Amino acid sequence: MIYDVIVVGTGAGGSTVARELSRNGLDVLILEKGGLVPSGSAVTQIKTADLKLNLEVTDSKYEFLNYPGELMYIEGVGGTTPVSLANACYACTSCYYNSPTAQFKIHDLEIFEELLEASKDLKVGPLPQTRTGPMTRKIWDAMEKLGYFVEPMPKFIDYPQCNNCGLCIEGCTHGAKWDGREFVNQAVQAGAKLVSEFTVNKVLHSEGKAWGVEGIDKQGNIKTYQAQRIILAAGALNTPKILKNSQLTKGVGEGLFTDLFITVGGFLKNAKLNKEIPMGIKSEFGAYFLSPHFSSQLIPLMAEKGFHVKNEDVVGLMVKIADEANGSLGDDGSITKTLTRNDLKLLTEGYDKAVEILTELGVDPSSIVATSLRGAHPGGTAAMGRVVNQALETSIKNLFIADASVIPQAPGRPPILTITSLAKRLAKNVLQDTVQLKN
Ligand SMILES: Cc1cc2nc3c(=O)[nH]c(=O)nc-3n(C[C@H](O)[C@H](O)[C@H](O)COP(=O)(O)OP(=O)(O)OC[C@H]3O[C@@H](n4cnc5c(N)ncnc54)[C@H](O)[C@@H]3O)c2cc1C
Repeated sequence: MIYDVIVVGTGAGGSTVARELSRNGLDVLILEKGGLVPSGSAVTQIKTADLKLNLEVTDSKYEFLNYPGELMYIEGVGGTTPVSLANACYACTSCYYNSPTAQFKIHDLEIFEELLEASKDLKVGPLPQTRTGPMTRKIWDAMEKLGYFVEPMPKFIDYPQCNNCGLCIEGCTHGAKWDGREFVNQAVQAGAKLVSEFTVNKVLHSEGKAWGVEGIDKQGNIKTYQAQRIILAAGALNTPKILKNSQLTKGVGEGLFTDLFITVGGFLKNAKLNKEIPMGIKSEFGAYFLSPHFSSQLIPLMAEKGFHVKNEDVVGLMVKIADEANGSLGDDGSITKTLTRNDLKLLTEGYDKAVEILTELGVDPSSIVATSLRGAHPGGTAAMGRVVNQALETSIKNLFIADASVIPQAPGRPPILTITSLAKRLAKNVLQDTVQLKN
């Protein structure tokens, strides 16, 4: 059988493009490396990759610079979305010059309409006052007292289904938080075929045109599938591997960003931040933002300082920056990046503000620690203008990319809404081409 489209990967990008195309009558085959991800334990599926950070400069005041960095992602149906904290950045030009919408406009791609459509599909809205937990409210007040502008975080939560458990990262068991599994199910209901536990190795092409993929099924057999068009959405760490295996190498695997973050936290008896909807509010500072965040990583670090605390006694703030897109994926699987002078400036400014806010809240300053540098939004590794054009097509005809790898620069903001919008845009282009071909 020759499918209309093969979609590789079922995360933010793959699930969306598969849904849009199958709902509009195309024969879609979805190939997914991982298996089904159970709600309630998605967090156990998180994989971490070592992130080797070369420090352009360092500062001995900030211990977190000494810890090894890491990148987080999931391989399973729904991609990394089941563990998301439901944060939805509108990626509009008003927040920061690095917004993806502004970045794509440089390449003559306007995705505003798709952002509105995706916001509606994902039920995006600001966290209501009634859902703002008591500790989050106290953090809001402390921030305002210090003169910082605070606003509710836009979330993709269907609030009537939400019981405020604060366990978004485990994969919502109430069906309140959107994740890619919902779109995969809708695609399958509309007739798409899903083959999970199938790892695509390369795209098959000849005379400059893609016509299929080759991969390995769960029994270890090599299999090929054919289609008119191939859409890679294997995520920013895996799409480059498939491209390189397919002899498309120029600029591939370079320009990695990760939206680096740390969580700064300390001891506050009965804070219970871990029981509230995470990251319910934010305070924007251009290339970085601060948001309440409980991280269990803080607990052993606090113990080293003599504070043996329980989860409910920890209060933390995430500092997330738009890091420079200078990383690369090695052929040996290594991931390296330089932490530039500017990255360090953003992180340390955010750290200092977090300490100021925590102290205002009543946190014992001697208990304050920061986690290692982590990244949960890898992107940039097959960027628009370098690897794909404005239509998200590579130099191989009929081979497209619909995931975070096409975003050129770090937004420093949650990318799911942007990726779903891009995928919607690609689906519209494909549908338009199909109609033209049929006529
Ligand atoms: C803990 C955590 C919390 C987060 N919270 C948020 C948030 O609140 N808001 C937000 O916007 N973002 C959040 N993110 C980031 C967000 O989840 C990712 O940026 C987003 O899912 C990336 O989408 P993608 O389509 O590029 O890739 P992914 O969602 O990672 O999907 C890639 C898919 O491709 C599959 N795949 C990989 N290789 C192959 C192969 N060879 N063959 C077949 N299939 C393959 C994978 O299994 C996976 O299903 C969070 C991330 C983490 C780790």
